[in-house]
Amino acid sequence: SPFWHPKGMVVWNALEDVRRRENLRRGYAEVRTPLIYDKALWETSGHWEKFRENMFLIPAGEDQTYGIKPMNCPGHMLLFGSALRSYRELPIRYAEAAPLHRNELVGALHGLTRVRYVTQDDAHIFCTREQIDGELDGSLEYLKDLYGLFGIEPRAELSTRPDNKLGTDEEWDFTEGSLVAALERHGIAYFVGAGEGSFYGPKIDLHVTDVLGRSWQLGTIQLDGQMPARFGLTYMGADNSEHPVFVIHRALFGSFERFIGILTEHYAGAFPFWLAPMQVRLIPVGEQHREAVHELHERLEADGFRVDVDERDDTVGKRIRDAELEKVPYTIVYGDRESDESLAVREHGGGQSTKSLEELLA
Ligand code: ZN
Repeated sequence: SPFWHPKGMVVWNALEDVRRRENLRRGYAEVRTPLIYDKALWETSGHWEKFRENMFLIPAGEDQTYGIKPMNCPGHMLLFGSALRSYRELPIRYAEAAPLHRNELVGALHGLTRVRYVTQDDAHIFCTREQIDGELDGSLEYLKDLYGLFGIEPRAELSTRPDNKLGTDEEWDFTEGSLVAALERHGIAYFVGAGEGSFYGPKIDLHVTDVLGRSWQLGTIQLDGQMPARFGLTYMGADNSEHPVFVIHRALFGSFERFIGILTEHYAGAFPFWLAPMQVRLIPVGEQHREAVHELHERLEADGFRVDVDERDDTVGKRIRDAELEKVPYTIVYGDRESDESLAVREHGGGQSTKSLEELLA
């Protein structure tokens, strides 16, 4: 389970801002559901039968066992099932980025890319059979926009029915066929992972390769008719009768932990300005420049930028080198010639210019 230092949390929160903003724009509703449930819930969801080995269980007195959630789905099923649903309400899109725990084997744990405490940018879309194609399209468009933001080009895998699947082959023919058709509508090349699907449905998984050539799964889009049926979820149609509901499970970063691990490699630590834990480093040349630098510091922070001051007694050259090594996007050395009208701005990786404070803020 990772410990997040302050700089890591800056990157995390920048991703969380993107997640919230984009979910809001695309018609998702934020929800929050419990972390611990009675075993009975996991039996209903199928996790007890198919996923128990990966769960942390808590004995709670005679004949009672709780399970810490490894996925958000069952909680979202309960939310959906808490009221009668009409076709007019659908689709309903619940989003939640809650901590999940999975009892991964010790030997499988790896840096940030495989951990036991994992936080998905999760969502579950409850929809009618007729709405599936449109919702898959929306999810794939969201995915493309999101990865485009980081310049990451993942490979798509279609993961099909596993041996321990729930449901019939006819049901899987329909759900797998829907995913294939969506990939083809979007012109997305994919390879097939036979038997790699979840126990409740097939999925589109997005993979990237790290600097050591290892492949990691990031986002996933899964189509499921099994779990909603196990929870008895239905909606009232225009014909006044009950119909089965389908669920699209999707996490686009995949998890914050793994996505940040992969991003750190992708940028080789030189995060773009909006993600950089420290955006501006100020270096006063001498004692007499400190006051002006502290004013500049306050001004930049007041405008919402992440700024620090290196006023160690080291030489200016040493302090500039350290800012370069830390990959701070902008470093400003402040001496006798500098003022709000004229700031010497160094950009990480080369580039040096003179800017006024107004130009710099712009
Ligand atoms: Zn799910």
